[in-house]
Amino acid sequence: MRFITRFAPSPTGLLHLGHAYSALLAHDQAQAAGGEFHLRIEDVDQSRSRLHWENQIYDDLHWLGLTWPQPVMRQSDRIQKYRRALETLIDLKLVYPCQCKRADIEAAAGAPQEGAPQFGPDGRIYPGTCRQRLLQDSASEDVLRLNMEKALEASELRTFRETGAKHAGTHSLCADTLLNAVGDIILVRRNMGSSYHLSVVVDDADQDITHVVRGEDLFDATQIHVLLQGLLGLPTPVYHHHRLIRDEAGKRLAKRDDARAISLYRDQGITPAEIRTMVGL
Ligand code: GLU
Repeated sequence: MRFITRFAPSPTGLLHLGHAYSALLAHDQAQAAGGEFHLRIEDVDQSRSRLHWENQIYDDLHWLGLTWPQPVMRQSDRIQKYRRALETLIDLKLVYPCQCKRADIEAAAGAPQEGAPQFGPDGRIYPGTCRQRLLQDSASEDVLRLNMEKALEASELRTFRETGAKHAGTHSLCADTLLNAVGDIILVRRNMGSSYHLSVVVDDADQDITHVVRGEDLFDATQIHVLLQGLLGLPTPVYHHHRLIRDEAGKRLAKRDDARAISLYRDQGITPAEIRTMVGL
């Protein structure tokens, strides 16, 4: 079986121990399988991405002992690719423009039904205010959303009916989760030309990724990705969701936790082998 995996950080801050674990695990698995490990720079959000963070990523990963083929894929070079995928979803009539600001969404969400989830992988679940709006009426500051209900109907027609659960590989889709705990996700963010979800699906297909090794915090996001793959006619990789590295209080690490930054451990004279031990590898 072919094994091509990737590590796909966003250059928006210092990599920490959680990133080290994810990258080392993917790299180790690729080596064990005689496969390939790729690096992808997820800089589609140009307002937050910085070249110096990107260079720091290369430094940190090399220091950890990782290697990857050149050239490295960078999302900022690929906006046209994302545009084409978006057009496929537009042709399927699954996309609508949304002008809601965060405060509008908060206000419209109102009092939630008891027990109903309020937050999904992208924050507050969108209440659907703009769902009836048409693309021809969109303004330049609008975001574009996926109509989740229609997407589920379309994917049933396009994929589930033909190939059943096999299509989703190791990750089976749950329509109820997608409808109620994920909702109408953003496909194109303001001033971005794409979104994380749309880009990652197009990139994984273009890099022939067969195995995605990522944190379990992305479990619901994976549902979105498998759905988009079905709609866009792209292959679904095998997904492995790994445990998260947590601090002493049990909180998962975030980029603002500079105290756990790989570069700080380096400066303190910690070795890559010690980093492996610290993350339990
Ligand atoms: N850029 C994402 C992150 O840093 C990539 C995760 C993924 O798609 O596996 O969390």
